[in-house]
Amino acid sequence: MAVSYIKIDLNAFRRNVRKIRNYIKGEAGLLAVVKANAYGHGVKECLQVALKEGYEGAAVSRVTEGRELRRFGFNCPIYVLGLPLPHEILMGVDSDLILPVDLTVDIEAIEAAAISERKMAEVMIAIDSGMNRIGAHPDEVPQLLEKLKKCSHIHIRGTFTHMATADFKDKDIAQKQLQVFEHALSYMNITDDFVISAANSAGILDIPNSWHNLVRPGIIMYGLPPSQDMTHSLDVESVMSVITHVTHVQNLKKGEFVGYGASFVAEKDMHTATIPLGYADGYPRALSNKGCVLIGGKRCPIVGRICMDQFMVAVDETVKPGDEAVLVGKQGNIELSADEVAEAAGTISYEILCTWKRIPRVFIGE
Ligand SMILES: *Cc1c(COP(=O)(O)O)cnc(C)c1O
Repeated sequence: MAVSYIKIDLNAFRRNVRKIRNYIKGEAGLLAVVKANAYGHGVKECLQVALKEGYEGAAVSRVTEGRELRRFGFNCPIYVLGLPLPHEILMGVDSDLILPVDLTVDIEAIEAAAISERKMAEVMIAIDSGMNRIGAHPDEVPQLLEKLKKCSHIHIRGTFTHMATADFKDKDIAQKQLQVFEHALSYMNITDDFVISAANSAGILDIPNSWHNLVRPGIIMYGLPPSQDMTHSLDVESVMSVITHVTHVQNLKKGEFVGYGASFVAEKDMHTATIPLGYADGYPRALSNKGCVLIGGKRCPIVGRICMDQFMVAVDETVKPGDEAVLVGKQGNIELSADEVAEAAGTISYEILCTWKRIPRVFIGE
């Protein structure tokens, strides 16, 4: 078995996916947001589960991610969330991806690709309701619709926007964004099958008027709350554990240092263990002298700087080479959540989930 691996509990994932579906109670369709390899959880396995649980499609960031899903054999609707550049458009249309458009996208190139591929290209009108990331402002919508109307090989599937602060306790900004979105909608021809989407996980949990007819859960499928300020939770369970094993232990004498830069100096005689993962594996260097790992069911603090492939933790005398060390996840009955690791590293759980590199995934369940 690998010394280090990422354990993905597909049963926990399935339970989370179900809880979200039951919470929505059929009031909107569900898209599994599986960008960035399903937030580091393995896109093929996770998407299979979500589709079996009645989710109607997938959302990815880039055309290349969508094409990869087609290569895996998925034939569900695949929405691309990030704007395509001209050289990606042919690939996007060829792979039957649903492309977002605003006035900066080369719409003629989409039409030309659709003609040459002999198909209808599907697009979603991206609305910038305040985030200033991508999308058309409401007053640009008539012009955009005018452009699209000239393209007989483009079908407007619907529209979407994205909220910047849906995870705040105070929903004022989010509600203002939703009003801007409504303004944009007022220019569109809203038929029964016109897709309208605004809700991320935080919108799903706390802002039912953001649901419209298609919601886009990401982080809650993977078992973490969007933030600590949510009003509602679904008691979702973490899906990912990052597991490795102690490779070396030693006694440290008072006054001796640990690691690069000699940033940790022992104030008394102590024991340390060496963990064979580092920033090249995605473990944040920001955890130097800050984070902890679980060994023997206890939190063991990191001492010294995180190296490229290794780091050291303070342990008791019982720890031996080969003992299991958990960087994220449960050990016995304690849990080191991605939120706790993120807090120590000065980031958010999202970044901790999708940070891992060169570590194999092991799937349990299903
Ligand atoms: C990532 C993303 C989501 C999912 O966000 P979560 O907070 O993980 O639920 C939804 N919509 C868009 C446009 C995104 O980029």
